Amino acid sequence: MSLLAALAMFIANSADPTPVCHGAYEQGALLACRTLPDATITISDARGFQAHLTADAKGRFVLGFSRDAAPNMTLRVCAPGGSCASLPLAIAAHDYKIERIDGLPPGKVSSFTETQLAHIRKSSVRKKTAFATKVSVDDFLAGFSRPVEGARISGFYGSQRVLNGEPKRPHMGMDFAVPKGTPIAAPADGVVTLAAPDLYFEGGTVFLDHGQGLVSVFMHMSALDVKDGQRVQKGEVLGKVGATGRATGAHLHWSLKWRNRYYVNPDAALSLDLSPLR
Ligand SMILES: [Zn+2]
Repeated sequence: MSLLAALAMFIANSADPTPVCHGAYEQGALLACRTLPDATITISDARGFQAHLTADAKGRFVLGFSRDAAPNMTLRVCAPGGSCASLPLAIAAHDYKIERIDGLPPGKVSSFTETQLAHIRKSSVRKKTAFATKVSVDDFLAGFSRPVEGARISGFYGSQRVLNGEPKRPHMGMDFAVPKGTPIAAPADGVVTLAAPDLYFEGGTVFLDHGQGLVSVFMHMSALDVKDGQRVQKGEVLGKVGATGRATGAHLHWSLKWRNRYYVNPDAALSLDLSPLR
């Protein structure tokens, strides 16, 4: 190895990997960060949670916090083959909407027919397969915008109903109250990794992979205008709002999954400033 090459390697290895992050340090929120190219990143907490990721060739990465993220987390970033930096992260609690309804008559046990169970299983396999696909693009870099404009938000990320003291599964997306047939616009560029007209619970569903492990999920659609593998641009119509699957009325449900680990708050993505990464 020439002296110059050795020197270049020394400089690369001793470079400071401390990341610069923008966004909200809050449960369900997202951070857009920059460090050294191809740096390895580990985010962990004292409860045993750990996620590993790699910065892209420009040193960019996106961190997502779960609905119930621990108040203290550790972010460790290492230069490829070089020095590491550890940062403590203080994560603020998010105030979720909890609705308690008591004194309900004991509910009937819901059961599914064999045909319904087969449909549920098939839907589950399709979702799993689609979530496992990863696209390597910078499609989220233009930032996120609302999939439907001006709509009232009828369901919030993380909200939960407690019926007769029994907590139900939290709502992991954002609901927009809009009439059936309203066009749904892609909130950011991406690649369609699932276009399924008839999943059991979700109904007409589109998965849109924006890169950096961020996947949008749109549910209850009455019509789909995109196909598996199709690349779409921000603002392009994905299909129409409906009430398909298990929905009580027409609305758009939008959720955003991070690295196939958990759902983050789409509202946090809307307010995330991605300009430092561009
Ligand atoms: Zn919903």
